[in-house]
Amino acid sequence: MVQETRTTCPYCGVGCGVLVRVDDDGRTTVKGDPDHPANFGRLCSKGSALVETLGDDGRIHHPEIGGRQAGWDEALDIVAGTFKETIAEHGPEAVAFYLSGQLLTEDYYVANKLMKGFIGAANIDTNSRLCMASSVAGHRRAFGSDTVPGNYEDIELADLVVIVGSNMAWCHPVLYQRLAAAKAARPEMSVVVIDPRRTATSDIADLHLSIRADGDVALFNGLMAHLHAAGHVDRPFITEHTEGFTAALGEARRLGPHELSAVTGLTQAEIAAFYERFAATEKVVTLFSQGVNQSSSGSDKVNAIINCHLITGRIGRPGMGPLSLTGQPNAMGGREVGGLANMLAAHMNLDDAADRDRVGRFWAAPDIAERPGLKAVDLFDAVADGRVKALWIMATNPVVSMPEADRVRAAIAACPFVVVSDIQRDTDTARLAHVLLPSLGWSEKSGTVTNSERRISRQRAFRMGPGEARADWWQFAEVGRRMGFGDAFAYAGPHQIFAEHAGLSGFENAGRRDFDISAHAGIDAAGYERLQPFQWPQPAGTPPETSRFFADGRFYHTDGRARFVAAKGETERRTNWGFPFVLNTGRVRDHWHTMTRTGKSPRLSAHLAEPFAEIHPADARACGIDDADLVEVENELGARVIVRALLTDRQARCNLFVPMHWTGETSALARVNALFPGRVDAVSGQPALKHTAVRLRRH
Ligand code: SF4
Repeated sequence: MVQETRTTCPYCGVGCGVLVRVDDDGRTTVKGDPDHPANFGRLCSKGSALVETLGDDGRIHHPEIGGRQAGWDEALDIVAGTFKETIAEHGPEAVAFYLSGQLLTEDYYVANKLMKGFIGAANIDTNSRLCMASSVAGHRRAFGSDTVPGNYEDIELADLVVIVGSNMAWCHPVLYQRLAAAKAARPEMSVVVIDPRRTATSDIADLHLSIRADGDVALFNGLMAHLHAAGHVDRPFITEHTEGFTAALGEARRLGPHELSAVTGLTQAEIAAFYERFAATEKVVTLFSQGVNQSSSGSDKVNAIINCHLITGRIGRPGMGPLSLTGQPNAMGGREVGGLANMLAAHMNLDDAADRDRVGRFWAAPDIAERPGLKAVDLFDAVADGRVKALWIMATNPVVSMPEADRVRAAIAACPFVVVSDIQRDTDTARLAHVLLPSLGWSEKSGTVTNSERRISRQRAFRMGPGEARADWWQFAEVGRRMGFGDAFAYAGPHQIFAEHAGLSGFENAGRRDFDISAHAGIDAAGYERLQPFQWPQPAGTPPETSRFFADGRFYHTDGRARFVAAKGETERRTNWGFPFVLNTGRVRDHWHTMTRTGKSPRLSAHLAEPFAEIHPADARACGIDDADLVEVENELGARVIVRALLTDRQARCNLFVPMHWTGETSALARVNALFPGRVDAVSGQPALKHTAVRLRRH
């Protein structure tokens, strides 16, 4: 019998709907779901190749303890017992979870409940810290909540789309296709791309600003000052709905035209062209992603952007507003359940005693965490210096993705007890596990994910996992049960977790918080199976009238007003005579993270077959480098990668780009994040993975 399943793509934050068809003979095909509001039937190269990544080669089939095959009971008893002993001997902050935006919301929910409600610490951080933490911090500072104001339709309705620090043509391809189609239908729409590199996204731009690394705060501060000076200010909105305007404007005016040009690396004519376009256009959407977030000034960048929307009152209405593009499939869902060390479930705050009390009562939790836990970089520092003695890593590969990746590898290797739950055996991190647990992967697991426009969609299973692989939520729930927390973790399936999560979102809420999906609090297994994609909020009893926030000028700070933030950013140059190149990193079109899945598809691997450094031809000439030479890129501490030279004038002078995907035995010297120091944004704790000083030479 032919089996058709509606599910969601497991890659980027666009969150495309996927239709999977399994024929009588087992042949499996995928196509875009024409009814899914994120993609309306489109898929990109990665989504189209999903079937090619389903092979069981390299999968973990059974739990393993110290390299030998074990049963689930034995493995879970050891995990629960070791965590309990460690807590008894050293306290709850001696244990930690490090999770992933690849997890489903239900997995994330149970992990957070276990750590923050029952273990009594908040040492649970995720690779979303590397991805979205600066946006979260920026939203919370400006709006009083982690609220994305608009939706994808706004991109199509805008007359000006500003894209900052995002190669969305490669990293959010279907959304880029929607933008390109809208621009083709309305040629008067204009697009400005702000990125040091001239990427595939720049091909659609009416104006490309090749900004100097970390010049964004200065550029948007200058824009705010220009909007004020030129009279493009919504004074009633500022007066009635905001605070902090005068201080933010004072900071925005700090740089004069010459300094602004020097800090941004842009000519005064380029800057003026952008400012005039922004000022003259009412319907502006500003999209931003990792070029903004992954910076030691990431939070200030986000707030400098939001300031420009607040000063013009261009927020919450069709075709206007700031919109962060989430990197991972469920970065947003993780945030909803408190999936960062400084957050609590349902957008409640760990540092708010009333919120802690509310969550604690809802969970009947014996030991709610009292203070924020360790953020990713600090967490691995704590592993390195022995404060964290038992660590559970799930669905992520920090030995490759963290900054100072060599140090992170050494820290994990020296940790007394390491549990790794994953689908693939031979990852750089899985090799360091004392207990290795087999997880279900996409196509095998069931739950929900939330995309960049707050749309919650189902991922549905359509095949069995290999061997004894089990769901991630089940692994946490079983360990919770074995640690003695009993009924709190007795879930019959993901639908019960989702129902509880929805119930918590409405618990004593009454419009107090933005995240409310309590309309689904009573959902049963059949309703969960039928669940259609929907945007939050969906409070019980009151269907939402719009999928946009803030049109009424009401924000989530206690006084109901938004905040301008005096964004200071940074202007320091990191390069020097010996290390004259700015190193930037990011994704390529056809691979995902550390390639444990996309690496299985020959078609995807054919696009760019090996690790490379993009180098401007003039820089290459100066270094005696020809196209396709092997080159060494080395930082001031002697960490280096050896990759292929790819000469292109799309790269700015004195800048290099090396993608972050390659690792493992065959590309051991391409682990580029080993070159980035653990420098973080002071507010968000997000590492700066776009800007460090290196030198370049022929290998
Ligand atoms: Fe998947 Fe993103 Fe491509 Fe959509 S755009 S198919 S979510 S990778």
